[in-house]
Amino acid sequence: VSDLAVGVDVGGTKVAAALVTREGAIVQTSRRPTTHTVTTPPGQATAVDILAAVTELIGERTDVPIGIGLPGMMTRRGVLAYAPNLPTANGGDFAALLNALRPGLVVSCANDADCAALAEHRLGAARGVDNFVMVTLGTGIGGGVVLDGKLVRGTNGFAGEIGHMVLDPQGPLCPCGARGCWERFASGAGIARLAREAAAAGRLPALVALRGGDAQSVRGEDVTTAAAEGSEEALAVIDEVAWWLARGVANLTAILDVGLVVLGGGLGDAADLLIPPARRALHGMLEGGDARPALRFERAQFAVEAGALGAAQLAFDAVQ
Ligand SMILES: [Zn+2]
Repeated sequence: VSDLAVGVDVGGTKVAAALVTREGAIVQTSRRPTTHTVTTPPGQATAVDILAAVTELIGERTDVPIGIGLPGMMTRRGVLAYAPNLPTANGGDFAALLNALRPGLVVSCANDADCAALAEHRLGAARGVDNFVMVTLGTGIGGGVVLDGKLVRGTNGFAGEIGHMVLDPQGPLCPCGARGCWERFASGAGIARLAREAAAAGRLPALVALRGGDAQSVRGEDVTTAAAEGSEEALAVIDEVAWWLARGVANLTAILDVGLVVLGGGLGDAADLLIPPARRALHGMLEGGDARPALRFERAQFAVEAGALGAAQLAFDAVQ
């Protein structure tokens, strides 16, 4: 039984790997840019990226288990069925691909947000909590649902695609093909879009002035930076994003009755700006508001490293 595992977090822009202990301590990390090359079999170029990142950490050893978090819908067999930000990997069976490259590797694969949920459940903000939802804010929104202590996987393995709950059928078009998905409002892309709308409507005069008077060039980061410095006009946009964040959390709570929502992902300190106004908005949105125990809505313990940490836990599970 290995005391070390490698967790790999595959994204549309980079492949990040970490050599991790059972207790979740990161020993060493490696990363490289993601290759977007069409291959036969699908995902071969990504498998080569993953193996290179792994080899940097453990050489050619095969006695260290590997866990991989992938950015899309994973079948119960561990095949990446649909990855909107990494389409060249659609259909990739990464355990098989890696074994073809290096026979003997023990490889387990899961959705990246499910990996983040596993990391928070075992090691982080949801330790000891049997019913919670992990919400990862990045360019989009990922999700992992844990009920009665177990990750919910669904018929196909596709459960927890919470970013594509439709909150406004007349809303903006989503890369998934639908309109008004939750992630169009409450994510990095959502902040950017609501910022441009507010700028065009004249509600961000100071930020537009900073961008030389061009409302369309106001970026999401401009808003989060200004909001962190206390700018009223920027905080008003954050409040709007937080309202949408709360709206989605309220829908999830109506279905799942979780006691905790953990907010993670790559948006960093934007989470700290969003949580207080989202908590206030949420209060009036939950059915039976005063009759139910308060829903905890907390920031994740781990940031971008959550995916690799959770993937490593998956790897340890496979060799127990
Ligand atoms: Zn969508």
